[in-house]
Amino acid sequence: MDQVESAAGDERRDFIRDIIRADLASGRHDAIVTRFPPEPNGYLHIGHAKSICLNFGVAAEFNGRCHLRFDDTNPIKEEIEFIESIEKDVRWLGFDWGEHLYFASDYFDQLYDWAEYLVRTGKAYVDDLSADDIRAYRGTLTKPGRNSPYRDRTIVGNLELLRRMRAGEYPDGSRVLRAKIDMASGNINMRDPVLYRILKAPHPRTRDAWCIYPTYDFAHGQSDAIEHVTHSICTLEFEDHRPLYDWLVDNLPVPSKPRQYEFARLNLTYTVLSKRVLTRLVAEGRVNGWDDPRMPTLAGLRRRGIPPTALRNFAERIGVAKANSTVDVALLNHCVRDVLNMQAPRRMAVLRPLKVVIETYPEGETEMLEAVNNPEDATAGSRKVPFSREIFIERDDFMEEPPKKFFRLAPGREVRLRYAYFITCREVVKNDAGEVVELRCTHDPATRGGDAPDGRKVKSTLHWVSAAHAVRAEVRLYDHLFLSPEPGADGDVLDDINPDSLTVLDDCRIEPGAAGLPMGEALQFERQGYFCPDPDGTPERPVFNRTIGLRDTWAKIQAKNG
Ligand code: ATP
Ligand code: MG
Repeated sequence: MDQVESAAGDERRDFIRDIIRADLASGRHDAIVTRFPPEPNGYLHIGHAKSICLNFGVAAEFNGRCHLRFDDTNPIKEEIEFIESIEKDVRWLGFDWGEHLYFASDYFDQLYDWAEYLVRTGKAYVDDLSADDIRAYRGTLTKPGRNSPYRDRTIVGNLELLRRMRAGEYPDGSRVLRAKIDMASGNINMRDPVLYRILKAPHPRTRDAWCIYPTYDFAHGQSDAIEHVTHSICTLEFEDHRPLYDWLVDNLPVPSKPRQYEFARLNLTYTVLSKRVLTRLVAEGRVNGWDDPRMPTLAGLRRRGIPPTALRNFAERIGVAKANSTVDVALLNHCVRDVLNMQAPRRMAVLRPLKVVIETYPEGETEMLEAVNNPEDATAGSRKVPFSREIFIERDDFMEEPPKKFFRLAPGREVRLRYAYFITCREVVKNDAGEVVELRCTHDPATRGGDAPDGRKVKSTLHWVSAAHAVRAEVRLYDHLFLSPEPGADGDVLDDINPDSLTVLDDCRIEPGAAGLPMGEALQFERQGYFCPDPDGTPERPVFNRTIGLRDTWAKIQAKNG
């Protein structure tokens, strides 16, 4: 696909790839191993997609391999549902870990042995301070920490306490195992970090085998080492953890020495990429689940009709850097349109129908007119669309008193019906409330197919559907879930929610051929945008999500910036 082609074509360059190239050239590594390490406490989002594309991408480019490793060290927040969704989403994005599926929990025995090893080498101790006291003793960025009164326990004493912690003899929070490093370190992560905590909670995979669990810091680097990961790539907030990562790898008899590299996480305008907030949106019912098409989750984007190729292209376009920045969501939309424009079959759909009776067209007659499936793709061919005396057009395409620049249908005016005929509006029918409910038009039979033999021009072309043949459908239009480009910048992010992020149109009419297209595959409703069928629909009453409108604001932004 295009991602693989471009990777093979011109070499991609960024600081991570430069490091890998250098490591391979110098012989530091013969082959590279990366990993994507999600914590199964939520669904993956587009920020994770950046990390997945990077980790799996470099592995593929340099003939290495990438592991999928679940960082399942916090049983309180983790669930099997999340494990399954993550596997599905990584595959959907187009990546494959082969046989290299791992869980940090697979290493609990080994990690525990290494905890005892640190105790035996005098580099870890059991601390009885409460969580609050540990925080108070830790100091601040400007003030060094203080040693815990329990720091100088004997090795034998520590070993016994650790074993009894493991045996479940102490309540949650009463004791922790800490590394003995330096309470005066300039790096707070090095001030005797916690390695194990007591948590009497069943784990989704190890069930009740454990009542103590390793912290992220103790599990992560050691898991990398066990798997012979060469380049452990993570986001910038872990930069300050790197000295600890290295300290643990250096002080334990690990089978390999991985190295950690940090890159800038993805931030997107109008979008929240914090699992904590996304979890809240779901829990508080602000959206309809993790796969709500307004969510930035991969499940939501998939349901919205965004093709995985577009996400991979997006990841390639934004690149990988060391400085945090925010990407304009218009770039993502641009990447989506780019793919859909080439792929999406065109169909006609009227979202807000206005009835038109063509008085000059014979009653009871139907003819099939030829319509192009995709002008961007000659191989997509054409289809037949039924035309008859009564049709629907878009309500917005008619104005009784048109202003100067309105070129669409108006009383006395002639327009083209796409693939069909020129029609002229002769009469406007209104209801008692004075609303337009129907137009009476005439057509010119000589313009069949859409052109006048006498060369006369019309200023606009409308889409339409035959009233008797169209399928009634529900269409869901989406807007940004948040009103502000930087949600939550001042105040609670949930106060920034856009109350109009979803508009449901329940009386849309779509051409018959649009109803049976496969789930999850986007199509273009001409002049409206890209849409895809939603699983809430049935064959009798299809439901479509608007993936995205047609207007590309990114191109405009680029032009303006020169
Ligand atoms: P948290 O740890 O707060 O639950 P997280 O988003 O960091 O949330 P993880 O499951 O730990 O969730 O993330 C897995 C990987 O994805 C990590 O390596 C993390 O650095 C990376 N990642 C997470 N968010 C982003 C983002 N916005 N951009 C790029 N990479 C990200
Ligand atoms: Mg994380």
